[in-house]
Amino acid sequence: QKPAKETQDEGASYDIGLQDTENGVVTRFPPEPSGYLHIGHAKAALLNDYFAHKKYKGKMIVRFDDTNPTKEKQEYQDSILKDCELLGVRPDQVTYTSDYFQDLYDRAVQMIKDGNAYADNSPQEQLQKERMERKESDHRNDSVEDNLAHFEQMKEGSEEGTKWYVRAKLDMSSDNGALRDPVIYRCNPQPHHRTGSTWKIYPTYDFACPVVDSVEGITHALRTTEYNDRDAQYQWFLKTLKLRHVYNWNFSRMNFIRTLLSKRKLTKLVDAGIVWGWDDPRMATVRGIRRKGMTIPALQEFILKQGPSKNINYMDWTSFWATNKKYIDPVAARYTAVIKQDAVKCTVLGAPEAPRAEDKDLHAKNPEVGKKKVIFSKHIILDQTDAQSFADDEEITLMNWGNAIVRKKSYSLNPVNFVASIAGQGERLITELELELHLQGDVKKTSKKITWLSQDQDLIPVTLYDFDYLITKDKPDPEDSLEDILNHNTETKVEALADCNVAALKEDEIVQFDRKGYFRIDRAFKHGEAAMAFQIPTGKKM
Ligand code: ATP
Ligand code: MG
Ligand code: MG
Repeated sequence: QKPAKETQDEGASYDIGLQDTENGVVTRFPPEPSGYLHIGHAKAALLNDYFAHKKYKGKMIVRFDDTNPTKEKQEYQDSILKDCELLGVRPDQVTYTSDYFQDLYDRAVQMIKDGNAYADNSPQEQLQKERMERKESDHRNDSVEDNLAHFEQMKEGSEEGTKWYVRAKLDMSSDNGALRDPVIYRCNPQPHHRTGSTWKIYPTYDFACPVVDSVEGITHALRTTEYNDRDAQYQWFLKTLKLRHVYNWNFSRMNFIRTLLSKRKLTKLVDAGIVWGWDDPRMATVRGIRRKGMTIPALQEFILKQGPSKNINYMDWTSFWATNKKYIDPVAARYTAVIKQDAVKCTVLGAPEAPRAEDKDLHAKNPEVGKKKVIFSKHIILDQTDAQSFADDEEITLMNWGNAIVRKKSYSLNPVNFVASIAGQGERLITELELELHLQGDVKKTSKKITWLSQDQDLIPVTLYDFDYLITKDKPDPEDSLEDILNHNTETKVEALADCNVAALKEDEIVQFDRKGYFRIDRAFKHGEAAMAFQIPTGKKM
């Protein structure tokens, strides 16, 4: 497979207005290792990489935000690093919030001692309600000793400790809800995939993020716009803890129509067996869309082109796949496939008595793609739908061969079809055709360019798959239950026969079957077992 074109550097001219870049730029991508990366994460990763490595000459850190052992796993952590590599995102450093647990703990203790944090044990619903109603908790003015004692119980992971959490003491009367005493520490006795049972308390993202950003030397913290309201809180932590300043810069979240991008919901799909796994071609994970035939340069181009925009909108997959087509069309080798069911056997009058092989270009407009073998013979097959469309004595073009005239059609006496056809409810199947070669005919004058395959070759079985969206709703609400919006019919497959060259195709190659579209080979042909090919959308409205 030829590598696709390099990413176009069009993004380099974006004026994205980061402040104070003269003193260096250090960005970070902070995934939580609680699932595989999806296309939204890809946007965050690519933007951080772009600012640090392309727009400015700086540094980029991938930091695992591993602060919730209940959701996190080594498997996810490993997959995220692999996917970053796949995306062409090359971190200068990989770090872990968990490496800062001691530091974060010490700072939380200091905040309690300074009267900037307190322990609380109001139930979750009450906490939420009181934050909404701007009502102070009964524990807000507990003594430093009491607060430290409760934090200690949390640290031990005792029965009592699990009931408590620590909140920063900001401003319960603020119009900005994010400033109404956010939670900064929670107790969770479950073991952590990196720190084991060393810690039973974990900092929240709100607390850990500004601290670790500042300590690690991040200059610009890029976040999605739903964090706008939390910028003030972020800055408060920096100021209160006397930490080095970090700029916040927000970009819009990327959404797609009829697409789930929440790790919680994607995990559900995987666990319920609704999809084959995280790399299912129907999943909007980096692996899923790649498996469906997205090329990485196209993904980079697509994301960087609309990347800096701050408008939250739902992207349409059609423009995404149209970008991809630009990259695959010039390099995808072209083969022929005929639908196996009801394929029509054809005798070609005037064809060479003995089969003849000829080398032809794999790509009509790009000879560099290579050559394939095309077999010409008296016995060929073609698609039933094509044969059905032929009028008597019509002149058609056999692609890569020349013109032929339709001389004879034989119909099946298949009783079901026969009865249906008499009742005018369907067409009888064509079982055999006779074509007479008319090579002096002008191929520009025929309206039908027909794909065909000589039977005098090893025809390779291929299963052609096409996938639909996993959900039925364009813009799902977070409250929608998965069951209500699930599309139950998302996989269509059809058995086909392909030319002998297809036997050599390897997994991951992107090809075109003439008149059938682009496909990615998901499983190569082996031991007589059909190859599996996934249809790659082209961006045409469906
Ligand atoms: P999810 O809800 O899908 O689990 P998350 O934000 O909780 O997403 P993280 O692993 O914390 O998952 O995300 C890592 C980074 O990716 C964060 O900086 C986050 O802002 C960004 N990100 C997540 N989803 C999107 C999206 N749809 N568009 C752009 N950036 C996103
Ligand atoms: Mg998160
Ligand atoms: Mg989330």
